[in-house]
Amino acid sequence: MSKFCLLLSVFCLNFLQAQEEVHLAVPNLKRENIIGTNVGIRPCRKTGVRIEAEMLGEKLVIHNYGYGGSGLTLSLGGAKEVTDLLNHKEGTVAVLGGGVIGLATAYDLLQMGYEVHIYADAWENLTSHVAAGIWSPMVLPDDVSQVKKKRIERMLATSHERFASHEFAGIRWVDSYSFRTGTSEGAIKTKGLGEPVIAHFDNGITKTGKKIREIAIDGNLFMQDLKEKVTNKGALFHTHHFHNKEELLQLDQPIIINCTSIGSRELFNDKEFIPVRGQMIYFAPQENIDYVLYQNVPEGKGIWVSIYAWHDRVILGGIYEKGEETRETVPETLNMLLNNAEKCFNNTL
Ligand SMILES: Cc1cc2nc3c(=O)[nH]c(=O)nc-3n(C[C@H](O)[C@H](O)[C@H](O)COP(=O)(O)OP(=O)(O)OC[C@H]3O[C@@H](n4cnc5c(N)ncnc54)[C@H](O)[C@@H]3O)c2cc1C
Repeated sequence: MSKFCLLLSVFCLNFLQAQEEVHLAVPNLKRENIIGTNVGIRPCRKTGVRIEAEMLGEKLVIHNYGYGGSGLTLSLGGAKEVTDLLNHKEGTVAVLGGGVIGLATAYDLLQMGYEVHIYADAWENLTSHVAAGIWSPMVLPDDVSQVKKKRIERMLATSHERFASHEFAGIRWVDSYSFRTGTSEGAIKTKGLGEPVIAHFDNGITKTGKKIREIAIDGNLFMQDLKEKVTNKGALFHTHHFHNKEELLQLDQPIIINCTSIGSRELFNDKEFIPVRGQMIYFAPQENIDYVLYQNVPEGKGIWVSIYAWHDRVILGGIYEKGEETRETVPETLNMLLNNAEKCFNNTL
């Protein structure tokens, strides 16, 4: 054996030895274990989140929307950016929107001593209630300005710090695994992070991939806690639909924080939205499924398998349907998701 081959084999041996091995349970994703399905539209924008101030007549409007598939993750960081922009300006505040972005922003404003009125035309079954709560940093296109990229980094850091401090319910650390087979594009790219790992599943299959320890949000518990905190701090809730921005001039509050998400398309004529639909299947809770898993689907075109557990369910998702905004589940797509998940745990993808 040449010296080069010897060195190469020693290197490979060391590399293999360094790889962590873990034993994981296979989730029960049988059809009889399904307890529900859900669908939501990710409010994606071409240039990502819009956090920006403008004057509307005499009113100061600060926009805070367009969080795509990262709203739970970035919510607390976004709230901080808004309060920084507000810079302790005096006056009562109208927050438009009762999703995670509106509530997180309202919470910080209440903590600063503002009188906060929250206006929304719906409070339940929002996109914010569909979100799984997997840690999802926003990936911006290459041509977005450095200023925007830096802002996302800041928001991510703020959110991370606050979530890690256990200020809110439903936050925990989990091991997150990503497995890749063949080639495919899509958000799984962002999950290629972490250390190499060999995972042995309890049905006998083995997968090699990456493992990272990350924060995970139980969407249900977090949203409930946030709403409770905002209520206890004295926010005033108003159910109201705004048809156009001129109606906002009728509000009593001189400061308006616009967290209407995709509602801003009509309200503020925002043409940057590219809605991306997601569908998911809920299974009965399973104690030994306490990890996050991503598996790409070769040539899947934005479709992969993602598994994540809340306290009361196991969630199977991974569908990204660009440009689709009908809020209805499609049985064929859910069927495909189930088939892909089955193949994922048979290693036949
Ligand atoms: C399938 C799926 C999975 C996801 N998974 C994750 C995840 O794992 N991690 C993560 O971080 N994020 C995830 N997300 C993204 C997250 O759900 C969104 O980014 C977030 O919910 C956006 O919150 P929001 O408050 O801006 O919008 P919404 O929750 O839609 O709230 C908007 C509010 O504005 C109000 N409104 C709108 N227009 C008007 C109007 N004209 N007048 C009055 N009120 C109005 C609405 O009634 C509502 O109260 C996921 C999303 C989907 C669809």
